[in-house]
Amino acid sequence: MCGSFFIQENWDTMENKRVYGIDLGTTYSVISYVNDNGEPEIITNSDNDRLTPSVVFFDDPDENGAPCIVVGRVAKESGVISPGRTFAFIKQQMGTDWTCEIDGIQLNPQKISSYILKRLVDDAKRCWDLDVEDVVITCPACFDTVQRQAIIDAGKIAGLNVLQLLDESVAAAMHYGLNKEVGEAKTAIVYDLGGGTFDVSVVSISDGVTVICSDGDHQLGGRDWDQRIVEYCASRLAEACGTDMDTVLKDSEISYDLQLKAEVMKQILSSRDVARAKIAYDETSEKIELTRKAFDEMTRDLLERTAVCTQKMIDFAASKGITRINDFLLVGGSTRMPQVMEMIKEKFASQVDNEPWMLEVDEAVAKGAAIAGLIVNKRIDYISSEFEAAKVDGLTVE
Ligand code: AMP
Repeated sequence: MCGSFFIQENWDTMENKRVYGIDLGTTYSVISYVNDNGEPEIITNSDNDRLTPSVVFFDDPDENGAPCIVVGRVAKESGVISPGRTFAFIKQQMGTDWTCEIDGIQLNPQKISSYILKRLVDDAKRCWDLDVEDVVITCPACFDTVQRQAIIDAGKIAGLNVLQLLDESVAAAMHYGLNKEVGEAKTAIVYDLGGGTFDVSVVSISDGVTVICSDGDHQLGGRDWDQRIVEYCASRLAEACGTDMDTVLKDSEISYDLQLKAEVMKQILSSRDVARAKIAYDETSEKIELTRKAFDEMTRDLLERTAVCTQKMIDFAASKGITRINDFLLVGGSTRMPQVMEMIKEKFASQVDNEPWMLEVDEAVAKGAAIAGLIVNKRIDYISSEFEAAKVDGLTVE
C-alpha cells in the first residue's frame, strides 16, 4: 500500500514548480511525481505503459531527410528488423567514450539517454499536460563521478534541470520508509537487481535515509540471465541445423530476436515451471522448451555473484558497528525471479530480523525520486540522505 505524508498547507499557492522523479533504467525508465494528495504516482506513457523500454531506434529519415527517432516499446520491437539502428542497454556505456554516427547524427551515451528522457517528458506533457522541467534522476550507487556527470549531461541535453542525482538504493529506501511508516530507526539491506546493473546497500532509515555502505556491479543484471537463455536456444538451433552456436549468433537479426524471446521466456519462468518458444532459423523452425530448474542451474553463478556482494556489505556494516539488520528490501525487475527470493531466504534469513520485503520492484525507485523532489523543493520536512564515505578492500564506497 502506498503511504502519503505531510505536505505544507500552502501547497496549492506555493510558487515552487513541481519536481519530478525519474528512474533512468538500463532496460526500462519510469517517471513519477507526488500528486496533490501527497502520494507518489507513476505517469503512464502514450502507449499507456508505466514502464518505458530504454531503447532508441533510428527509423529511416523522412522525405526531407529529417531523422525519425523512436523510443520505447516500438523501438524495442523494431530492433529485430534493424538491429544496427537500435540502441539498448546504453546506461552500461555511460561515462565511456563510446560513439556512433547514424544519419549524420553524432551519438554518444548521453545523447541516446537524452532521447529516452525526452520521451518520458514529452508524453507527460502530451498525455497529462504536465510540464516537466525540474527533475531528480536516480543512478546506481556504484556509479563513479564520470558516470554521474554523464547522466546530468543527458538531462541537460533533454532540456531538463537536474536538481539532484539520487542513488537508486536511497530512492527505494525513501519510498519504503514512507510505506512502512517507520517510527524508530531501522537498518535495511537494499538488494537492487535491475536489467543491467546490480546494487546492494546497507541503509539506515529513520527521519531520513543514510547509506552506511554500498557496492555493486554495473555489468550484471537481468540481461545476463537472458543471455544464458539466448545461448541455450542458439545451441539448440545450431544442433538442429548442423552448425555451431557462434554461426547462429553472428546473424544479428536472429540474435536480436533471440534476445527478445529469451527475456519473455525468463519472465514466464517467474510464474511457471516451463517456458516454450518457437524460433525460426535458416530453413527450420524449432520448438524450444526450458524448465525453471534448468534455468536456475544455468544461472546459478550469476546469482552467487550477488550473494557474495551482499555478504560483503553485511560484513562491512558489522565492522562499522551495524550488527543488527532489520529488513531486507528487494528492488528491480529481476528480483521477480523466484531464485532470488529463494537464495536470500537460504543465505540471509538468519542475519536479518524480518522476512525479505518485495517492494513495488519496478516503481519504488522512481517514486522515491519523486519524494526526493519534494524535499529538494522544500515542500516537506524530510531529512535527505547523507553519504558516509568509507573504504572496503580498496574500494571507495561513497
Ligand atoms: P528494472 O531495470 O528494474 O526495470 O528491471 C528490468 C529487468 O527486470 C529486465 O531484465 C526484465 O526482464 C526483468 N524482469 C521484469 N519482470 C520480470 C519477471 N516477471 N521475471 C523475471 N525478470 C523480470
